[in-house]
This record gives sequence, C-alpha cells and structure tokens, in this order.
Amino acid sequence: MPHPRYIGRFAPSPSGPLHFGSLVAALGSFLDARARNGEWLVRMEDLDPPREMPGAADDILRTLERFGLHHDREVIYQSRRHEAYQAVLERLLDAGLAYPCACTRREIRAAGLPGGIYPGTCRNGLPTGREGRSIRLRVENSRIGFRDRLQGPVEENLAQQCGDFILRRADGLYAYQLAVVVDDAAQGITDIVRGADLLDSTARQIWLQRQLDLPMPGYLHLPVAVKPDGAKLSKQTFAPPVDPKQPTPQLARALRFLGHAVPEELEQSPPIEFLDWARKAWNPARLPAVAAIEAR
Ligand code: GLU
Repeated sequence: MPHPRYIGRFAPSPSGPLHFGSLVAALGSFLDARARNGEWLVRMEDLDPPREMPGAADDILRTLERFGLHHDREVIYQSRRHEAYQAVLERLLDAGLAYPCACTRREIRAAGLPGGIYPGTCRNGLPTGREGRSIRLRVENSRIGFRDRLQGPVEENLAQQCGDFILRRADGLYAYQLAVVVDDAAQGITDIVRGADLLDSTARQIWLQRQLDLPMPGYLHLPVAVKPDGAKLSKQTFAPPVDPKQPTPQLARALRFLGHAVPEELEQSPPIEFLDWARKAWNPARLPAVAAIEAR
C-alpha cells in the first residue's frame, strides 16, 4: 500500500503573540512537513475564551506569514467547531464510553488520590440528588504505548496517571483533549510535531482515538524552551513576543535550538530563502532528545 501523504500541523492557542517557544514548534512542524513534501496546516485552538487575548489569533497568523511559514488550506478555528465536538461527545455518551460527572474540584481533592487522579465517583451513575457538571471518558487500568520519533518508546497507564478524564468541562467548554483528537482526524493529520510539554497528553489522545476508531498519527515531541529557572516559555511566564522585524535571525535561533548548525551569513537572507535551505538541511536525527532546553 502506498504510504499516506504527510499532513502536519501547527496548533497554537491564541493566549498571546508568538514567542520563541511557539516559534520552535511552528518551525519544527513546518520543516518536518516540507522536508517530506507534505502539507502543513494551521489550526487555531481558540477553545478557552477566558485564557485568550483579543487579537492574538490574527497576530500569530500575521507573524507566521512574515516569517515565511506559509500554511496550506484554510485555517481552522476550534471556536467554530463546537457542533463537531458535541456530536462526538454524544456518540461517546450513547455508547456508554463517557458519562456525566457531578464532582467538584474540591471533592476530587478531598478523595486524596495522588496527583489529583479522578476517583471514579460518578462512573456507575450520578449520586442521588446530584446533577452532571462535566463529561468524562472512561479509561482502563492498562498500559498505552507508542513510539515517539524523538523521545523513543513512551508508555502510560491512564488509570494511574489521571483516571477518567474530562471531555467537557463544568463551565461548558470542550476540553483540549477532545477537540485536538476530533480535529487531527478531521484534517487527516498523519504526523504531529509539537512541544514535549504535551508528551503526557498523548496517551489520553491515543485512548480517545481508539474509542472513536480513528487512526493514530505519528508523534514527534520537540524539546521545549525553558527559562533559566526551568519554567516553560509561555505567556504566563512573560516570554517576550518574537520580533516581526527580525524574522530570519530568529528562525536561525530556533533552528539552532533544534540542534542544527546554521551558517551565520544565512541570517541575512529573506525568510523564504532561509526556509528553503532549512528544509533541505532538516534532519530529525540532529534533534536533542531531551524534554527541555534553556533558551538563550
Ligand atoms: N494548542 C496547544 C498549545 O498551544 C497545542 C496543541 C497540540 O499541538 O496538540 O499548547
């Protein structure tokens, strides 16, 4: 059988402008797709309005363009996909794979399982007199394994990691785990390249794919950029936005962060030329297989 065409993606949450950490994920996923003559899609994960910053989605898209990271097809916005998530949720509920849960965070904490694992209180029905607040997916006490192209074999037991996990939150918002699986499948994503901060979400996503009979994409989790104190670069840690006036030097910095030697004179080229060179130079074997690296 012919190998399915490569379709990759970059899926930012618009909680702020693009910073060095998100540029690394954008560049890594872009180059991996382009090096394989694949498509590269952008999906805006605007699922959680309270955590979003007005204008950030447009700002991210403009920055990607300015950096020469041109995407294929139209951008998908998760805020416009609620019907698709609801349909999947109902299918899981009807099949008894998911169930309503009445527990508050405080009740789950009070149950005292390590790491805030859900104790399964509502698994066999809501306690009398209580109403469902969130929707959870049943998990099993078994190992889920996959081979990450960079991190190697990874194995997790969801019952020991998180327990039955949330698909729709008590505030009515759809959970990232649900939306990401539904959309990766809807967009035909074959390869996911993203930051290693999402490595421990992957088993949950694979479990959900299995419940829905969806194909499993390949995974490559890149090292994430951290500050000297070990905190991930993010809006929450006040990572500065990338400078739209200096695209190529910052692309070069991101590619060096990903373990590739970049000749200094290339920093003078327009981003498109730089990326064309980088696509040919891209070699996943050069990627540092650690979860986090200090960004300098
Ligand atoms: N939206 C997620 C984030 O910005 C990334 C999702 C993914 O790549 O699976 O952290």
